Amino acid sequence: MDILSSLEPIVRDLIAPAAAHTDSQAVYPRQALQALGSQGLLGLISAAEVGGMGAGLPEAVQVVERIAQDCPCTAMVLTMHYCGVALIEPFAAEDTRRSIAQGHHITTLAVSETGSRSHIWAPTGTAAAQGQDAVLLNAQKSMITSAGEADSYVWISRASTGEGNTLWLVDSRLPGLQIPSRFDGMGLRGNASSPIIAKDVAVPLACRLGEDGQGEDVKTRYLMPYFPTLIATTSVGLMQGVLRRALQHVAHTRFAENGSGLADLPTIRAYLAKAQLKADQARLLRDDAVQAVLAGRPDAKTRLLQCKAAAAEAALEVSDTAMRVCGGAAFRKELGIERLFRDARAASVMAPTTDVIYDLLGKALCDAAA
Ligand SMILES: Cc1cc2nc3c(=O)[nH]c(=O)nc-3n(C[C@H](O)[C@H](O)[C@H](O)COP(=O)(O)OP(=O)(O)OC[C@H]3O[C@@H](n4cnc5c(N)ncnc54)[C@H](O)[C@@H]3O)c2cc1C
Repeated sequence: MDILSSLEPIVRDLIAPAAAHTDSQAVYPRQALQALGSQGLLGLISAAEVGGMGAGLPEAVQVVERIAQDCPCTAMVLTMHYCGVALIEPFAAEDTRRSIAQGHHITTLAVSETGSRSHIWAPTGTAAAQGQDAVLLNAQKSMITSAGEADSYVWISRASTGEGNTLWLVDSRLPGLQIPSRFDGMGLRGNASSPIIAKDVAVPLACRLGEDGQGEDVKTRYLMPYFPTLIATTSVGLMQGVLRRALQHVAHTRFAENGSGLADLPTIRAYLAKAQLKADQARLLRDDAVQAVLAGRPDAKTRLLQCKAAAAEAALEVSDTAMRVCGGAAFRKELGIERLFRDARAASVMAPTTDVIYDLLGKALCDAAA
């Protein structure tokens, strides 16, 4: 059975029907994750040698895109899990990797901090040596998807000694980890993106992911292909979902006055055409980013950043258009459009934010022209 065939019943029978409840009650999508795990999809990018499916970026894109059409919240939780796995796979102990592959272990990225804010390359959290074999982590993480729900956090700190940053695999049950307040967000409400405080959390040196001080290089090598692409993909799937709902409404809504429908209005049709164009442009750019990664093209890094920014911004516009063309009906919950409109707001402010990406890409353009 191919990956999408095993995913489809989970989305149709579990994730889509639960999406409104996940949103309104801010419920973590635990059942969905268990179902994904039972089909091997939490171990999608885990190596076959530890029992995973041994797949990669193209397959992760397919899975996240399909889920995001109906529940961007679950898609984002899975995105963060895959991103964590991309960093765990090259470095972590075999039992952890096996547990992920078997669907028993959820992970996430714990990067953003109250001090560094969206400048995720400059953490203020520390990792102080404690004897020969451990460090003590201290940090205030600001918004971490699956906080208090994941089994582990892929955690960034400043290096223990010298310059740079360091990555750690942190067991979420360790003493000293605290979640001071629960996430009550505008969108992606079930994804438990709460703050995490670490106070003298003792982590074995064996849980370090890569060398001390090499965190940014490790992220560039192992995380960079996944993170921007999958965040972009939540936006791409979301746009497909919101357009599907808007088109359903427009195609079946009529005026009693003369029997004509919303679909007879050229203005509405033009809005929809432009929104579809935006969504398709973002999807094609995302597809090209995946191809650039697979082919090792020199423009891969640029494409990855572009696809995240393009998809995040397109999702803002497309979800706005869906609200507009569906009128007051979209204000109500039952169309599911206002939920996707709210969910769409997250990607552009998830680091690297769209404005940070614009600055990075613009600087590269100016440097090249200088
Ligand atoms: C739903 C959700 C889930 C999240 N999940 C995670 C997670 O799992 N793990 C994690 O580590 N983090 C996560 N984050 C945090 C996220 O990655 C960002 O760090 C966070 O959203 C930044 O918010 P802030 O208030 O600190 O932004 P600020 O840094 O205060 O930015 C405010 C504004 O200034 C702009 N800005 C900042 N710096 C620059 C610059 N150099 N150039 C131009 N403009 C700039 C920003 O684009 C933004 O518009 C999540 C965020 C959200 C919304």
